Amino acid sequence: MPADTTRTDLTERLRRIEVRLDRERRARAEAEYLLEEKSRALYEANLALGALANDLEQRVEARTEELRTARQAAVAQAETDALTGIANRAAFTRRLDETLGNTHALRAGVALLLIDLDDFKTVNDTLGHQAGDALLVEVAQRLSEALRPDDAGRTGDLVARLGGDEFAVIAKNMGPPQHLQRLAQRLLNVLCRPVVFNGVSIPCYCSIGVASAELSENDADTLLGNADLALYASKRTGRARVTCYESNLRVEVEHRARHENAVREAVLADQIKPWFQPIYRCDLGRYTGAEMLARWHLPCGEVRPPLAFLDTVEALGLLDVMMENMLRRALPEALPLVVSGAMDYLAVNVSPTQFNEGWALRTLPPMLAQAVFPAQALVIELTETALLQDTEHTRAMLHALRAQGMRIAIDDFGVGYSNFSLLRQLPCDFLKLDRTLSLDVEHDESARALTECILTLASRLKIQVVAEGVETLQQSRYLLEAGCAAQQGYLHARPQRDLAGLFAHAAAH
Ligand code: C2E
Ligand code: CA
Ligand code: CA
Repeated sequence: MPADTTRTDLTERLRRIEVRLDRERRARAEAEYLLEEKSRALYEANLALGALANDLEQRVEARTEELRTARQAAVAQAETDALTGIANRAAFTRRLDETLGNTHALRAGVALLLIDLDDFKTVNDTLGHQAGDALLVEVAQRLSEALRPDDAGRTGDLVARLGGDEFAVIAKNMGPPQHLQRLAQRLLNVLCRPVVFNGVSIPCYCSIGVASAELSENDADTLLGNADLALYASKRTGRARVTCYESNLRVEVEHRARHENAVREAVLADQIKPWFQPIYRCDLGRYTGAEMLARWHLPCGEVRPPLAFLDTVEALGLLDVMMENMLRRALPEALPLVVSGAMDYLAVNVSPTQFNEGWALRTLPPMLAQAVFPAQALVIELTETALLQDTEHTRAMLHALRAQGMRIAIDDFGVGYSNFSLLRQLPCDFLKLDRTLSLDVEHDESARALTECILTLASRLKIQVVAEGVETLQQSRYLLEAGCAAQQGYLHARPQRDLAGLFAHAAAH
């Protein structure tokens, strides 16, 4: 091949290569430009997206905060007692669970105090619900002021109203048991002060039951149960009291509950029956009257005296039922003796509360009418406690009873207050000299002086005196000589179930 041809060829190939190269360079430049363009767009898009995300995040945060606040407000409202503004039962339950869920060291000093107002129902019933509400608000405030403020459950004490007139305190860091006792006593002192409402002073009393978490195996139900038991014990032992839970309390309370059930059953099953003790007239040599005395006939045959059940019957609110059941038996049993003239009167004991609630006036006239029992042959025995309360009201009731024909005896005279002016102020027909005086007249000069003084006064006021608890012949003689011919006591006859038998036996002698 000639050299020229070869050169031309080579040049041509070189040119083509250059052309291709040039084309490729341009294409690359174009591609690079495009790439740059794209990445700028991408960058901008990224920037916009970032801003959008930021904005969204802020909005989500704001909404979350809003929701949190709303939820907190709802929880606060759901856990606040509307009347008093303190925590309610829901808050109390949650906080108690939280507190007891704490580490052992933290829950060691935890104690629960249950507080219940005494006789709150009476305030509501007699002074109205507004007065009752005012009392509850005041109690909540006194409690809150007396305790360390609650700081969301960290160190302070939580004060809550569990409902009605029941309040609770969860106390922390209590230290030794004496501290707890002292705290409860302090609360009692703060709470048991009158509350003034609309210018009226309302008495305020409460009972407190205390239990510490340490003695309650740290479980909320047990702790609550123990505090409740202690509160119950406070109520039963006389109100305005503090009781701290101890393990033997459960035994006592269970025992009492069993007793209450048995007594309730006894009254409702009509196992409380009337027994009778005669009143003997030494000057006439015969029984003139008989006092009805309650006895509990147990199905096993045992017979128990009033001391074993009377207070419980009264506490259970069953005294009316008991008395009415007894009278339904006693009146027909006494009627033939009254009609025949063998017996002048049947005496019936009426408790102070029962009397003051108007039971005698309400119940006795219709019962007498139904039994065709002459009212003149019924004597109502009342103790001084019954008569000392509201004198005006008492006097009115006594007059009303006497207007119906019934007679009144003042029981257990000569002990307690023995208010002599009572005899002048209140209408009464009999005066029963207390057993302790009969017992002492034999040996004790002052008992003799008091007895003689009472006898003189009674005779001047035309009140018949009956000496109670006469057990010996010496006592009987002394009393007879001092002018007290009507006597009652083991010397003359013990109480017994069979009234007709008692009088028949006396007639035969
Ligand atoms: P009270 O009314 O003073 O009744 C007299 C009490 O003295 C009776 O006790 C009687 O058994 C007891 N007694 C009578 N003679 C003697 C005696 O010579 N020596 C001694 N040591 N005691 C004598 P009881 O039956 O145990 O009644 C106790 C109290 O229970 C009564 O005292 C009365 O306050 C109350 N009570 C009894 N029955 C009733 C009732 O049906 N209704 C009410 N509300 N109370 C009643
Ligand atoms: Ca009596
Ligand atoms: Ca008596």
